[in-house]
Amino acid sequence: MKPLIDTYGRIANNLRISITDRCNFRCRYCMPEEGMQWLRRSQILTFEEIVRLSRLFIGLGVEKIRLTGGEPTLRKDLPQLVSMLAPLPGLRDLGLTTNGYFLKELAGDLYRAGLRRINVSLDSLTPQRVQDMARREAYDKVMAGLDELASYPIRPVKINTVIMKGFNDDEVLPLVEFARERGYQVRFIEFMPLDAEGLWSRAQVLTTAEILEVVRSRYELYPKETRADGVPADTYRFHDGRGEIGFISSVSEPFCYACNRVRMTADGHFLTCLFSLKGIDLKTPMRNGATDAELAKMIRAAVWQKEEGHEINRATFVRPERNMSQIGG
Ligand code: SAM
Ligand code: SF4
Repeated sequence: MKPLIDTYGRIANNLRISITDRCNFRCRYCMPEEGMQWLRRSQILTFEEIVRLSRLFIGLGVEKIRLTGGEPTLRKDLPQLVSMLAPLPGLRDLGLTTNGYFLKELAGDLYRAGLRRINVSLDSLTPQRVQDMARREAYDKVMAGLDELASYPIRPVKINTVIMKGFNDDEVLPLVEFARERGYQVRFIEFMPLDAEGLWSRAQVLTTAEILEVVRSRYELYPKETRADGVPADTYRFHDGRGEIGFISSVSEPFCYACNRVRMTADGHFLTCLFSLKGIDLKTPMRNGATDAELAKMIRAAVWQKEEGHEINRATFVRPERNMSQIGG
């Protein structure tokens, strides 16, 4: 089977599936404090539909799937979904991105269901700051979830951190130290214009270069790999061999030329970029009886037309209507 390829020669082999738009947090950089309109249950893909589409994507060359949201652990019976996806032939890597709040309860079941990779979002090491960022009291639960993870060989555990100037920009080194001590890879994700309240401004982005400068004031780092291999995160190792640190530099150093990612929203819209203005509705044709071959044709056509790159840094930039939690970060 020919891989999913676009007109720029990029191959899409990495699929992020949002399994719910709902969330128990209200992170400033993602959701509004109030007034979010949720999808109705009937609008959300069922587990069977998610598995059918996953199988189809794997047949088209997708090797990595990551479940995200909204908050994926809010989806009832998440371990069941993981157990349906993990054994799919051809799937090399199944991951989960979560805010960590329910991990204490779920980590064991997720591991037993076949989950081996996890990203936990954490923006601060102080309870009050976590509450300021997530607008929910969450620190103790997230820490308990991380502690619970240690009982299972789910590796690597990555910590996703968004730094917003004026909120948590003084936490770079504490978070790096925390991650090194616990054997996590901390990944700093640049704040992108996908928040729901139109808060984003370039002035609030602490760039990868700025974060690197802070980290290098204390640690010697060297790059683990160059970007030429298509991995859209710069990863560095510490000179003493203890740990790694990753960067998603979407704003300051876009990696669109090497992007291998595509996305599925919770309501079954296929997006070729986080910043796509329009998705392809796969759910409606699927529910109207489309065959796998017909769906595959739609997916191929959409990937073929994948945009050259996002336009955050151009005057022509238009924000997508969906915010991050509605797309699936
Ligand atoms: N709720 C889960 C979580 O927070 O990990 C999964 C979904 S969340 C949308 C996925 C990731 O997107 C999180 O690590 C979050 O920090 C990140 N994110 C959300 N809004 C963002 C924004 N505007 N810019 C950059 N990263 C963002
Ligand atoms: Fe929820 Fe994740 Fe968005 Fe925070 S970043 S509001 S945890 S979906």
